[in-house]
Amino acid sequence: MSQTHPFGRRETRQIMVGKVPVGGGAPITVQSMTTTKTADVEGTLGQIYALAAAGCDIVRCTCNEPEAAEGLAHIVPRSPIPVIADIHHQYKMALAALEAGVHGLRLNPGNIRRPEHIKAVAQECKDRNVSIRIGVNGGSLDPALYDKYGGITPEAMVESALQEIAYFDEVGFDLVKISVKASNVPLMVEAYRQLSLVTNHPLHLGVTEAGPPPAGLVKATAGIAALLLEGIGDTIRYSLTADPVEEARAGRQLLEALGLRERKNVDLIACPSCGRAEVDVIDVAKRAMDAFADRKLPLQIAVMGCVVNGPGEAREADLGIAAGNKRGHLFVKGINVAVVPESEMVEALVEWAEFINEHGTEAAIARADVAKAEREARLDRGTLLHEQGDDANRANEKIVEIRKRVSGS
Ligand code: SF4
Repeated sequence: MSQTHPFGRRETRQIMVGKVPVGGGAPITVQSMTTTKTADVEGTLGQIYALAAAGCDIVRCTCNEPEAAEGLAHIVPRSPIPVIADIHHQYKMALAALEAGVHGLRLNPGNIRRPEHIKAVAQECKDRNVSIRIGVNGGSLDPALYDKYGGITPEAMVESALQEIAYFDEVGFDLVKISVKASNVPLMVEAYRQLSLVTNHPLHLGVTEAGPPPAGLVKATAGIAALLLEGIGDTIRYSLTADPVEEARAGRQLLEALGLRERKNVDLIACPSCGRAEVDVIDVAKRAMDAFADRKLPLQIAVMGCVVNGPGEAREADLGIAAGNKRGHLFVKGINVAVVPESEMVEALVEWAEFINEHGTEAAIARADVAKAEREARLDRGTLLHEQGDDANRANEKIVEIRKRVSGS
């Protein structure tokens, strides 16, 4: 996945967040964070799909209470992009999130301070091959470091990150990326510069609490772009007081403007294929990618493994197809428009994509027999639910383990 880019780039080691590489020459990735309650599974997944469609590569969800960890047990297997759990003060929530199957954790060293707790989390991440972001935040700096440096300084933030790494080293854990965010741009830029001199872990860039657009966009761009132009940074997040989709779009646009990510034609999104999948999603997505490779169609197109959740999860996409009962259910902006045999899914996608490109999504919906398509989708959805039950991902088993972790038994 490595690609050339116009600026020299600082060498970092590579870690994986789920299937997405970060650092080590991988394309710089865009991150964002959901604003829903993580316990609201459908609401959170809807936001994740909207974020993925807007160019987000990795998503973070808060894991601040047991209900959030239980929500993650349902969300992770159905998310199209890797999910990171944001852990606040309780290390047990980190263990619960790992039980839910998250692809990464974000720990704030200012919040979880007991060495035995930090090491317990790192050990479990090591055992599960899950990465951690050490997320130092100027506003929640460890008070001991605040006192030592007489305030929030770049040196204090760097030391906070290095202290955390030292705990991880004790258990031999090194799947780590680091951020040293502040809301003050010059402070944040200097902290990252200093950090990049003393570690080769990948760096996650951001200006924290940048505020609402347009001022927030300007602040975040100033800090992130300044560092990227110096070759520093492996993954970025805009922290805006706005719909997170705006964060993802801004991140993507900045990387494209700097020539660090390719502009897209068809933006193909695909579900990860969980226990409900009715087809080989990877194969269909790959064949669809090939079919669209030479077609200049600026559309978002979704390939979804099941008609139970696919059309709803990918309702932001211009066009999508979901499998069910040996048939492909085409949908436009989440509205079912046609049913085709499973063997014709890719061809049907191409035909509808070309129609939409020429006439628009409204014309595509207008030409369809929506009532019939919805009736057929309902039928196949009912068949799948009957065959698979309502817990195809065995989330309830994970929830039993999460409850044990949270209660400490
Ligand atoms: S198979 Fe269905 S429920 Fe599973 S991730 Fe794909 S669309 Fe979502």
